[in-house]
Amino acid sequence: MSNVPEMFGCRVFNDDIMRARLPKEIYKAFRKTREDGKPLDQTVANSVANAMKNWAIEHGATHFTHWFQPMTGITAGKHDSFVTPVDPCKVIMEFSGKELIKGEPDASSFPSGGLRATFEARGYTAWDPTSNAFLKDGSLCIPTTFCSFGGEALDKKTPLLRSMDLLDRQALRILRLFGDTETTHVTTTVGAEQEYFLIDKALYEQRKDLLYTGRTLFGAKPPKGQELEDHYFGVIKPRVSAYMKDLDEELWKLGILSKTKHNEAAPAQHELAPLFTSSNIATDHNQLTMEVMKQVASRHGLACLLHEKPFAGVNGSGKHNNWSMSTNNGVNLLEPGESPRKNAQFLLFLVAIIRAVDQNQDLLRIAAASTGNDHRLGASEAPPAIISIFLGDELTDILQSMLDGVKYESPDKTYMEVGLDYLPRFKKDTTDRNRTSPFAFTGNKFEFRMLGSSASIAGANCILNTVIADVLCEFADELEQAEDFRPALRSLLRRTIQKHQRIIFNGNNYSDEWVQEAQSRGLLNLQSSADAVPYYLCEKNIRLLTRHGVFSESEVYSRYEITLENYTKQIHIEALTMADMVKKDILPAVVSYMKDLSTTACQKKQLSDRISCYVEETLLTRLSALSSELYKQTEQLEQHVAKATQIEGVGIEAIGRYYRDVVFAQMEATRVIADEIESLVGESYWPYPTYGKLLFSVK
Ligand code: ADP
Ligand code: MG
Repeated sequence: MSNVPEMFGCRVFNDDIMRARLPKEIYKAFRKTREDGKPLDQTVANSVANAMKNWAIEHGATHFTHWFQPMTGITAGKHDSFVTPVDPCKVIMEFSGKELIKGEPDASSFPSGGLRATFEARGYTAWDPTSNAFLKDGSLCIPTTFCSFGGEALDKKTPLLRSMDLLDRQALRILRLFGDTETTHVTTTVGAEQEYFLIDKALYEQRKDLLYTGRTLFGAKPPKGQELEDHYFGVIKPRVSAYMKDLDEELWKLGILSKTKHNEAAPAQHELAPLFTSSNIATDHNQLTMEVMKQVASRHGLACLLHEKPFAGVNGSGKHNNWSMSTNNGVNLLEPGESPRKNAQFLLFLVAIIRAVDQNQDLLRIAAASTGNDHRLGASEAPPAIISIFLGDELTDILQSMLDGVKYESPDKTYMEVGLDYLPRFKKDTTDRNRTSPFAFTGNKFEFRMLGSSASIAGANCILNTVIADVLCEFADELEQAEDFRPALRSLLRRTIQKHQRIIFNGNNYSDEWVQEAQSRGLLNLQSSADAVPYYLCEKNIRLLTRHGVFSESEVYSRYEITLENYTKQIHIEALTMADMVKKDILPAVVSYMKDLSTTACQKKQLSDRISCYVEETLLTRLSALSSELYKQTEQLEQHVAKATQIEGVGIEAIGRYYRDVVFAQMEATRVIADEIESLVGESYWPYPTYGKLLFSVK
């Protein structure tokens, strides 16, 4: 299919298809449910289910699945067939409203963080009518939420939907204060830019570390890395270009508008940016994008790596979460306005975000916490682990002038009053050249740049929506009571800027000075996930997350437990993989090389005493010493891992710190030696493709 408009969304049961296929009344009732979250009655559900089934069968589907997002961070679904027997030799294809609305998959193999008692293994999936059903691999996939028997969220979508609903309600209260009586809904919007690596699949399959852990645990630096910066935005190679074309088409069919693509900073690294949409759909789309990226790569003899740090010494991959709020009339609430009134409203939202971010640095850091992402944050390639906000000079100056009660000097040297009635008209500043900020205002949206490339964006957006909605609620509470709105607003803005200006930083976030400066400003610097995740349970956070019903207390606890558990499990698997690689592959390779060296040296000596054996002897001496050392370090690593499984009763936080301080540190020590050995051993002896091959072989 080459016609893009025809191809776009052809696997999606979208609004147009629904309007065309559903009786008018049913379609209207469905739209009401979608827009206002009204419960769907059984006849409507039956009618929608029937239309969905017919459409799916016409497109070759035989099965349906409730597609959900458990706390593993990837998607899941149990595939049931439409086939229903009517008598011993006849079947019909059936799908009822009941099956559309609710499913009961076995939940026992999904992480629950203590939410699901083992005697109650059932989980429930419930249709999310705000996200379209779609066709994938012969199944009709129905986006659903996933919860336990007791109604607790076992997934990432449920809290995200709750947070969107919360923000909708609180933002509307603010709009009403500014005299907006027309807007009926505010939706959070997201565009998630996705970074990834593409390498040759045959080479990928030769590396146990990539297969088991998604990243290379060993690998000496190649002679060329990313020093020349010749890859960034460079010419896309033919094999990669064919992949990207195919990927775009597959995504378009699923209604995902992949818009731009380019090479990233590291060799073999690329990026895809979609058009933004509502947070919920953007999350579903990002999950699908990651799945499709891998599938299409496989068809092209490539492997798509979504790990945050597949290669040491080379930039890792992240995800930029572009975030804003939009009214049902399509007005972006973070777009600076044309009139002072609009600008005052814009400033209120902006200042609310500043307060929310400063007050909840810990929660935002947690939202980016994972074993993989720990390699990036603070490594001069991604923002540091310190949260701050980039506003750009002009906005920062305007806030400062408001605070000081002085005139604002604009870039063209004119002076303007700054009062709510005299706000300067400022242009949307699209010249954001500060790529080092973790949370940057980019003209009409914020870009949260800390997320890891493999993460689901659901968690981060749920936190963003909740912390911002909480401040909007607080602001609305105060302003709704005010006798005189304008002075009350001015006082609120001033007070808030005064209190939270420490979070604004327009400088280089990668510099050492910033780490010092941030410390003196009292900002948090939570270096690893093991440091960050325990903050989930601070009283402030539990209160905030439960206050508006986004999470229950046990749901917060379950997220805390699962995140820490994943963190330690991943390091555990990495450590075992390392030990396996050393003993089964690396040491045998070195020994075999040393054997050839010593055989050659002996043969030379037999021929004549005067033939130099300098190379053989030097290498043998060095490699003997290094391989003994590697063996010892590996034994040590295995002992540390064994001990970790014995330390019970110390609590999950202590185990997390143990894995970071002891096991992970030991992995680093082991790797250094293996990498040095690699640089000395003949390439034909080495059991794994080198960094050079992995990074530069796709043409
Ligand atoms: P930049 O060049 O600053 O990265 P782009 O306009 O190319 O900006 O957008 C980058 C990403 O931000 C895209 O995925 C885009 O869809 C998303 N984006 C743009 N506007 C919004 C918005 N209002 N809300 C959420 N995401 C947005
Ligand atoms: Mg960007």
